[in-house]
Amino acid sequence: NSYPISGNEPVLNYAPRSPEREALRAELTAQKNACRDIPAVVNGQSLYGRTTTPVRAPHDHERVLANLYHGDRETCSAAIDAALAAQREWSNWSLQERSAVFEKAADLLAGPWRARMNAATMLGQSKTCYQAEIDSACELIDFLRLNVQFAHEIAQMQPRHAPGVRNRTEYRPLEGFVYAVTPFNFTAIGGNLAIAPALMGNTVLWKPAATASLSNYLFMELLEAAGLPPGVINFVPGDPVEISNVALNHAALAGVHFTGSTAVFDSMWGEVGRNIARYRAYPRLVGETGGKDFVLAHRSADVDALAVALVRGAFEYQGQKCSAASRAYIPASLWPAVKTRLVAMVKSIKMGDVCDFANFMGAVIDKRAFDRIRSYIYRAREDAQAEVLVGGQCDDRSGYFIEPTVIEVKDARHALMENEIFGPVLAVYVYQDSQWDEVLQLVDGTSAYALTGAVFASERAAIQQAGQALRFAAGNFYINDKPTGAVVGQQPFGGARRSGTNDKAGSALNLLRWVSPRTVKETS
Ligand code: GLU
Repeated sequence: NSYPISGNEPVLNYAPRSPEREALRAELTAQKNACRDIPAVVNGQSLYGRTTTPVRAPHDHERVLANLYHGDRETCSAAIDAALAAQREWSNWSLQERSAVFEKAADLLAGPWRARMNAATMLGQSKTCYQAEIDSACELIDFLRLNVQFAHEIAQMQPRHAPGVRNRTEYRPLEGFVYAVTPFNFTAIGGNLAIAPALMGNTVLWKPAATASLSNYLFMELLEAAGLPPGVINFVPGDPVEISNVALNHAALAGVHFTGSTAVFDSMWGEVGRNIARYRAYPRLVGETGGKDFVLAHRSADVDALAVALVRGAFEYQGQKCSAASRAYIPASLWPAVKTRLVAMVKSIKMGDVCDFANFMGAVIDKRAFDRIRSYIYRAREDAQAEVLVGGQCDDRSGYFIEPTVIEVKDARHALMENEIFGPVLAVYVYQDSQWDEVLQLVDGTSAYALTGAVFASERAAIQQAGQALRFAAGNFYINDKPTGAVVGQQPFGGARRSGTNDKAGSALNLLRWVSPRTVKETS
């Protein structure tokens, strides 16, 4: 492979008085005081729909950051027409030519656009500086650059020749448009769900989450600045049901690239199933959905490392990661030491406006999330099977703030161990050391999800046993580390069971879903 290999984008540290900190501060101030318009972008044109909603900072109800213009059915149809028209030319660009656009975008993001994108992610999605940096800067730059490398690796996958016979595989795009439906919690995922199919020669209808529209729209502008031709990616914010209804009923639907809830992905499969005879080709459905990610400690675990992993895994970005640690299994012999550390660390967590760099947590994304998470906590307070050890306060007077909360449950199959809460709530079940074998069964059999999971142990035999017993319980399995923070190209990301189709974002496996190969045999 002659293609140059680039590494992961280094994480900047934003030390006081560092140039990156100064640049970010200036951007935060500018974006806080401007109220942007966010239109749909169809065929390179901005379309301002009739309905708008204000985009507010989750940590500050008073702060209106943007007016979001909703695309309607017509906007959506126009976006699909634009995508289909653009595909003829775009898919004839060579992989090298298409790659150049995304590499240029990576360079812009690593340079002058970095502060702008991080500020938008911090303000719009209530991410701390560090959480924004690893998302809208590093992970997104990695997707832009490393997808190019994966695509070149795919191009090298070629069949054998035989005497008098030359064979080759052409990696064509899918015929039709790809519908990307993207989440609020990672700016990088929003971007990747649109750019991964586009790199392989597809054209895209992109429906962002309203709550991530500030950063997602900025990324659309960045792609245009990098030379992405009009119509290749069409950005249509709006009512998800209305937009999906148009997209999933269209004969040229070639694929869905989704990250979001299991319930929504289920309903998309249902709609595609009902329409199946209508499509020109079987659509590819690629989705990453929910998680109920475990941390399992063995009695040989390092208690300090375990406690740090629980706090970071459960509470970074307010627990709003599909990969967040949300159910922990701790042996009774370690529990007193783990509990002391956990409670002390959680009590020291600072939460508030993300523009104050001392805060470790911001607010949860919106009122719906706040109400859902709060109801889990309030129910636990009344429940004899559950004890809130630390946290539990919920305050939405100025922003959607929920304290980091640790709840010990007496029943290993408690709802807090089964259901995805998607907020800063960690449920802990304490097991008897002698019941290690049983607890392995329990971890595997509890919750329908299988996204990420971690085991903490220093005994090799325990690590191996857990690896084997939990083979299907997680698509990303961590040994002595928190279950969050997958790095593009290092830990290809995705899970199976009810967590999705496990088409590993950040690897060639994902890009393979966006090609429809043609085998060519030529005899001489
Ligand atoms: N890739 C992220 C991580 O490893 C999680 C992605 C998600 O929340 O969907 O933490």
